[in-house]
Amino acid sequence: MASLRVENLRKEYDRGEIVAVDDLSLEVEDGEFVTVVGPSGCGKTTTLRMIAGLEKPTTGPIFLGDEEITNQSARNRDIAMVFQNYALYPHKTVFQNMAFGLRMSTDLSKAERTEKVQWAAEMMDIEELLDQKPDELSGGQKQRVALGRAIVREPKLFLFDEPLSNLDAKLRTTMRAEIQRLQDELGITSVYVTHDQEEAMTMGDKIVILNDGELQQVGAPTHVYDKPANEFVGGFVGSPSMNFLEVVARTSGNSLVLTDGEDFRYSLSPEYAADIDVEDGQPVTLGIRPEDVYTADPGSDGIQTTVDVLEPIGSDNYLYLDIHDDFIARVNADVKPAVGETIEITFDESKIRLFDRDTGESLL
Ligand code: ATP
Repeated sequence: MASLRVENLRKEYDRGEIVAVDDLSLEVEDGEFVTVVGPSGCGKTTTLRMIAGLEKPTTGPIFLGDEEITNQSARNRDIAMVFQNYALYPHKTVFQNMAFGLRMSTDLSKAERTEKVQWAAEMMDIEELLDQKPDELSGGQKQRVALGRAIVREPKLFLFDEPLSNLDAKLRTTMRAEIQRLQDELGITSVYVTHDQEEAMTMGDKIVILNDGELQQVGAPTHVYDKPANEFVGGFVGSPSMNFLEVVARTSGNSLVLTDGEDFRYSLSPEYAADIDVEDGQPVTLGIRPEDVYTADPGSDGIQTTVDVLEPIGSDNYLYLDIHDDFIARVNADVKPAVGETIEITFDESKIRLFDRDTGESLL
């Protein structure tokens, strides 16, 4: 296994009309599992294809370990890629599919190749499928074979391009666990592209968030969740999404009052206000996640609002509140205000995020 480093990676198409990846610098440590996530068209696949050698970067070197591989052909890179559509050879058996990469890239004897395929088949629990052809397999089995084919070569780096998108929800969960087990057992250095933020959050040691070809944030999932670098990340990571309110910051002694000029008014205590670099009157966006909104006792100086919708989800209830469209509180299942009822809410102050209204960047 090896580390991966890309520096100021850029990919233009159509003579620069389209910038698919813009100035991306990134480091994946040896044995690390990194997920890359972002909306459609943000440059995830292009990034992966450049690392794999299937696409040539416009600028920016790529290093695998200490070796620069930018100009190496895909075949000479010690990298295995797992695709959404499995990319198995239809006329070859599972065994032949798995052994094929070994024949192409190593000078092992037939017996050694067989042994390696057996090992990978055992790892993936597909020994009984070795004589079958891909069209005799289910989607989940095909993806197991594709994973087996990737690990049999014991490459330095694994690239996954939305490998679970074609599977149903239950199978996806099983395969996620399977890939994580492989990761634990083999210590595979991996870059895993997905558009599913939940998948990215649960699988990644580190999560990379892209938008419009640009890196938005990279970090441990909990860090990215708790401290989004900007409004985009706050809104993209987490479901239901972070609530956003456009407010104005008013300094008042040591504390900070956030108000929308109408009914909404929230005072941040001096302890939190001290960390925030805002000017009196500055327009900011307040971000608060649904689970950090609480109902308060009436008369406790909370924010008064009306319940528009109550949506039970089993363990909890979602309250859609009349603060603005789609403002959601996630509360305990035993908190069941009537629709139309006026309630008071408050926030876990330590979880409030403030973003610059113009740039979207986090202010704390
Ligand atoms: P998706 O989740 O939809 O697969 P993505 O994040 O993987 O999207 P890319 O496929 O990397 O995004 O595409 C990034 C941008 O580059 C998009 O605007 C896309 O239209 C453009 N693009 C990708 N490949 C080409 C190409 N061969 N020629 C021109 N433009 C391209």
